[in-house]
Amino acid sequence: MKRGEGVFERIARLASDLPDGSEITQRMGRAGLAHDGLTPSNFAAVPTLSKGKLAAVQEVADGFGPVLPFGGLAEVSRIFRSPGGTYDFAGAGPDYWGFAAYVKAAGIGPDDIAIVALAYQGTPGAFMFDEGLQSVGATVIPTGTMGSEAVLSLIQDLRPTVFVGTPSHLIGLIRRHEETGANWQGTMRLRAALLAGERLTDDVRVFLAERGVASWQAYGTAEAGLIGYECDVHSGLHVRSDILVEICDPATGQPRPDGEAGEVVVTIPRKVYPMLRLGTGDVSAFAGGECPCGRVEKRLVGILGRTDELTKVRGMFIHPRDIAVLAAEVRQAKRLWVEVHRDADGDDVRIVVEPMIDPHESGLFESVEQLFRQRCGLRGRVVVVPQGTGKDGALVRDMRSK
Ligand SMILES: [Zn+2]
Repeated sequence: MKRGEGVFERIARLASDLPDGSEITQRMGRAGLAHDGLTPSNFAAVPTLSKGKLAAVQEVADGFGPVLPFGGLAEVSRIFRSPGGTYDFAGAGPDYWGFAAYVKAAGIGPDDIAIVALAYQGTPGAFMFDEGLQSVGATVIPTGTMGSEAVLSLIQDLRPTVFVGTPSHLIGLIRRHEETGANWQGTMRLRAALLAGERLTDDVRVFLAERGVASWQAYGTAEAGLIGYECDVHSGLHVRSDILVEICDPATGQPRPDGEAGEVVVTIPRKVYPMLRLGTGDVSAFAGGECPCGRVEKRLVGILGRTDELTKVRGMFIHPRDIAVLAAEVRQAKRLWVEVHRDADGDDVRIVVEPMIDPHESGLFESVEQLFRQRCGLRGRVVVVPQGTGKDGALVRDMRSK
């Protein structure tokens, strides 16, 4: 790739160099586009590639030519197997997966020693961090899936400054150390934790901050590598500068207006295992406004869920997480869920409430409908049902196809 080219120029140039048999060329062809026909305005016409379809393409691939169009397996340095049934291919470093930007944003450099406590077997997660850390000159201790006792003894001997792994693993290590009566901060040098694999809650951030450890999180996938990462403002995830991220309607693949939720669709102009409009199945939205850190790359608000959990109504999405929050807010409700029905006038959104008390006494209807509208951007009407009606059901029930 030429220096100074923008991301889109690099994507277009890569596309024009692709051989005919490549999966990307074929998908562009379905949108009526020739190799060199990709422009910013027709880009979204190229159908997105779901992870399921990627697996199917890999199954029929002879030597994986369609997904490894520039040199096949000969150009691949490592092959991984994803839980979703696809193979993931890595090219030669440095930093094939793009994690260096994240590591740098976390203030990590040549003086740091990092424990990487993620599995090195089969899946690429540990290597993503490992290579990002190495590319900024940090020293890596690849503890992988070693037991807590052994890791703790390594930490005591080598005094790493960075931990990469799950929040529960790190908290477990700290508790174990503190149970012996030792003071964590007094004996350890750990100052940053790049946390993965579990949701990073405020409780975890506070627990670690109290011990002098700053928490960091990022977003990536096994096919793409790093997609977004936190800066020191810790508000949203900046999109990696050398890739293109769109937030799309999962049904049509069309980009959604900024601020609205949709599927994260990723394009990566790399020669080994290039990606054009890969649908991750993850739901996010772009955060508004500029980040005080000064980076110009857009921010994702974080991962809100999976596309198969979304229900689309009148162009908006209802996500179970929003309904869970709503249910917690409405104290008068023993249970609360949403049903979408179709009647002669179109979609009928019912906020179904199983009340604790007489629902008429507290203005329940209006307040719940208002809360729902604020949260989901949709109008819905409250329907009260007798107790026991909604047991063990989903929070969002799409009854339109039934
Ligand atoms: Zn920032």
